[in-house]
Amino acid sequence: MENVGAQKLMLPALTPTKLWKQTNRFDDNKTELFEVHDRHKKNYILSPTYEETICDLIASTGTLSPKILPLKLYQISNKWRDEMKPRLGFFRSREFVMKDLYTFDASLDDAKKTYELICEAYDNIFKQIGISYVKAIGDTGSIGGLMSHEYHYKCEVGDDTICMCSSCQYAINKTVCKESHCPECNSTFLEQNTAEVGHAFLLDTKYTEPLKAQCHIQNKHVPSVMGCFGLGLSRILTVMAETLSTEDELRWPKNLAPYTVCIIPPKAGSKEEIAAQYIDKIVEILNQLNIDAILDDRTYLTIGNRFKHSCLTGYPYIIVIGKTATNSPPTFEVHNINDSSKSDLSLEAIHGYFNAENIKS
Ligand SMILES: [Zn+2]
Repeated sequence: MENVGAQKLMLPALTPTKLWKQTNRFDDNKTELFEVHDRHKKNYILSPTYEETICDLIASTGTLSPKILPLKLYQISNKWRDEMKPRLGFFRSREFVMKDLYTFDASLDDAKKTYELICEAYDNIFKQIGISYVKAIGDTGSIGGLMSHEYHYKCEVGDDTICMCSSCQYAINKTVCKESHCPECNSTFLEQNTAEVGHAFLLDTKYTEPLKAQCHIQNKHVPSVMGCFGLGLSRILTVMAETLSTEDELRWPKNLAPYTVCIIPPKAGSKEEIAAQYIDKIVEILNQLNIDAILDDRTYLTIGNRFKHSCLTGYPYIIVIGKTATNSPPTFEVHNINDSSKSDLSLEAIHGYFNAENIKS
């Protein structure tokens, strides 16, 4: 988000209900909104999304100067939705974490360019996560707007269906698919169960007009042209856990794991305890390669016990300083959890191993 010039902020969870009435969104979404009121009987909702809030903020600061456009504002915060059927932990939950970004431009042409720029940033984020995703033409649904794209992961427990072209990259949400063949190449569609994890909307002036979020063009005040973009962060984690993990291990993509490597030194008072002298050397090697690591220094627990905890937490690599570390020369067990492989490596070989794995932190 920072690479595309977006600024981070934090909007209040409580949104005055009257803003949602001004955009005619309150009645249509009433069943999914958590409503609260204060001591003066003023009504608020716990925000599921922030188009109204941000437009009200923009309007309160005056008219936007063309010099600061496109304006891009984002937050990472909790959102609330009174789901009819919450399920699968964070997959469909009443409280969830979302990254939401709102953009403001002076014209539709400019807004389209900003839309493309943000979609490119989203593509980069999904490429870095490294799990293949589908970008599909979206359903504008209750958010509305002129154009929309969705990001999906293939997922059997997902509750979306995507029509994917059997020959080219074209994909479209089944709810908005009106044709029986791909409009790009006329091939047949394949239907795929997916989970939606990201969504981009070109909103035009649907929210900026009623809420008076305006900008200057040639001495006139006109409604800004808006875009909004969401990434379901708790949902992305849930889909990863659902689709990649085994019964005994959480398997995170390397860029989402809490730490890339977990180092497990010997148990205190054990025969191998002397091998704890190699901790610093291993940490130094990983530092040199810019790989983030955590040391499980709960040495009152056995190696086996801590190894099990590590697998459940989902570190992609575990280095055990155990029995073979007391040999001369010492070797260390390096486990790649995501492909279930294990290697016995010298200190030098650990450097070569992680260098070749090409892990960027
Ligand atoms: Zn096609």
